[in-house]
Amino acid sequence: MNRERLIKTLQNIDVTDKTAAELYREISSACMDEILSEKQKAPARCAYYFSVEYLMGRMFFNNLLALGVLDEAREIFAAKGFDLNTFEDVEDAALGNGGLGRLAACYLDSAANLGYPLNGYGIRYRYGLFRQKFVGGEQVEEADDWLKIWGDPWSIRKEREAREVRFADMVVIAVPYDMPVYGKSVNVLRLFQAEGSPEAEKISEYLYPADDTEEGKLLRIRQEYFFSAAAVGERTERYVREYGTDFGKFAESCVFQLNDTHAVFAVAEFLRLLTKVYKVPFGRAVTIAKKTFRYTNHTILPEALERWDEELVEKILPEIAGILKRLQIYAAAAWKAEGCPREEIVRMSILGGGKFAMANVAVYVSERVNGVAEIHTKILKERLFSAAYRHDPDKFLNVTNGVTQRRWLLLCNEELARFYDERLGSGWREDLSLIRSIDCDDAETLAAFSKIKAEKKRQLAAYIEKKEGIKLLPDAIYIAQVKRLHEYKRQLMTALAILRIYFDLKAGKLPDFTPTVFIFGAKAAGSYKRAKEIILFLNKIAELIANDGEVNGKLQVVFVQNYDVSYAEKIIPGSDVSLQVSTAGFEASGTGNMKLMMNGAVTVGTMDGANIEIVERAGRENNYIFGASVEEINALEGKYDPVKFVKTHPRVREVTDTLTDGTFSDADGKLKDLAASLFEETYNRADHYYVLYDLLPLVDALLKVNGEYRDRTLFTGKQLKNATRSAFFSSDRAIKTYAEKIWGI
Ligand SMILES: *Cc1c(COP(=O)(O)O)cnc(C)c1O
Repeated sequence: MNRERLIKTLQNIDVTDKTAAELYREISSACMDEILSEKQKAPARCAYYFSVEYLMGRMFFNNLLALGVLDEAREIFAAKGFDLNTFEDVEDAALGNGGLGRLAACYLDSAANLGYPLNGYGIRYRYGLFRQKFVGGEQVEEADDWLKIWGDPWSIRKEREAREVRFADMVVIAVPYDMPVYGKSVNVLRLFQAEGSPEAEKISEYLYPADDTEEGKLLRIRQEYFFSAAAVGERTERYVREYGTDFGKFAESCVFQLNDTHAVFAVAEFLRLLTKVYKVPFGRAVTIAKKTFRYTNHTILPEALERWDEELVEKILPEIAGILKRLQIYAAAAWKAEGCPREEIVRMSILGGGKFAMANVAVYVSERVNGVAEIHTKILKERLFSAAYRHDPDKFLNVTNGVTQRRWLLLCNEELARFYDERLGSGWREDLSLIRSIDCDDAETLAAFSKIKAEKKRQLAAYIEKKEGIKLLPDAIYIAQVKRLHEYKRQLMTALAILRIYFDLKAGKLPDFTPTVFIFGAKAAGSYKRAKEIILFLNKIAELIANDGEVNGKLQVVFVQNYDVSYAEKIIPGSDVSLQVSTAGFEASGTGNMKLMMNGAVTVGTMDGANIEIVERAGRENNYIFGASVEEINALEGKYDPVKFVKTHPRVREVTDTLTDGTFSDADGKLKDLAASLFEETYNRADHYYVLYDLLPLVDALLKVNGEYRDRTLFTGKQLKNATRSAFFSSDRAIKTYAEKIWGI
């Protein structure tokens, strides 16, 4: 990459008579030419990240930053009368859902910046995660036609490297699109697009098509096999070209990292290729696979631990089904020979009850299995994979998630980056741990930080006004709960807590209350009825409060539409408080919590996921921990009855009554259904996620924040301590751990 040449090219770009989209493509292409001019020598050993999701966000600013030309490019085009911020309208590459997909993007960024050879494999969806709008307070989904206006100048179609992927009933062409990831090394995210027939094209049309029908399930299986098989196929072929068909050195040349269970068919495909195509004996193929694969578990929620019907796999992938069955027999014999008790063999089984347990395949074959926060890994060892852990304890380890400070600090909070530059020089940009040396008690430093927070809040308010047409209360505390909508994340509990505060305000019980804005951002999966009801409930609360002259200068609720990476880049630096209130034991790690911490938000949270490690580092006294611990939740099992609970807790009862007493119009019974989820055994247990149990402790924590916020020096100090102690949560640290302890690259 020749920086001078790139600057010259940018200077020579003529902006007259060009649309923003034309300019976007021209500038992006100029950068791509430089990126691609980089000559790379092939590393001896390479890691591959297999993921169905990559939530990359906007590529433009990130890439210009990586190339070291962002500031200069801004100036060059400003001088020509064109504001580069125009490209803030460019669609996100939202080929992912939430945390898991964003983590994949952060990891690619860190690996390239640290110079580790890590490439990604995934699917190039025609439509990304849906776009969300609210109509009458309800979520409406629109197709995300992300290529329509701006195109995709950051990838290159590699027609000549296309390959066939075969199903029993169709042959699909997998065409790679390569997206370079620029840093100390130039790595590649290779996304496959399915082509060849209208049927084939469906495979890469949508992210997570509904799988509540047989057809839907088959499509998911096709997606997973499609990209896994294309990836394993090309990598294996390359190995054979370079080293022949012995495969003795395969695991020395590459390592395959499975991001959750979605790519576990890669294991079966690898065994199929080795045994059927290259005639390697089955046992030896398993031994090679065991040195090649690694698995990261991201959740203990049963719906995310995939189990595919044997019949369905048999129907479209008979050879793969055969391989998995053979693997079950092989593994069971080995476990038996090693003296595993029968009960444990059943729990580790690859095939059971007519279904393939993909997580068990991954655990069995992988040399390393990791969880994503200390508490999560502990739960994997003690509960989810306890049998496998007893059998092979050394296989399991923890790597707490991380986020890239390049996007989540340098790009989204230039003001804070300059604050560090002024005090530390530029070394912290390479080694984030240096920010720990900022003196958080120094008055001048605190004042400077406080000014930055106020500026980011002002910018956020301006952005929300532009996007949503809503003016945020100025001089208020900004509290954000931004993440996918899921019952375990307990946005419903926050909704009820806001109502509690609302009633108390109206009753005059909170005379010193500092104005507070609650900012929500969340998409609900299209088929997740209850999550959509929670969105509706929050929007109704927002409306109730906005129309109530008694409180609308003190309390405000804003649910922004279409929360995505780009929206996150505005909300996160502009928030004072980070809400991380999942039921203890359910949030594997979280990464939103880390981004907010890095930008100086204090956490109001439960002892769950990475919250525990956040307060360990930033100090419990600088955050607001509340609610039941995992141990308490476990002890409540079978003893908690929410109907009885509200009888002894009228302050809870008063707010849950609003779901059914006509406070809100509820023609379709949607809010009644929320009440049912709390009080009736609608699915395995009433109030499955202990929303009511933790409600008043949450209200207390929020009121404590409200009181302490008034002491501006004290509160700003807490915020700055969080920001300056966030280095551990850099994905640079996480990637170094993966590289050293898991991949050996
Ligand atoms: C970071 C991020 C997430 C993950 O948030 P959690 O709070 O960890 O669930 C989800 N969506 C987007 C757009 C993100 O940037």
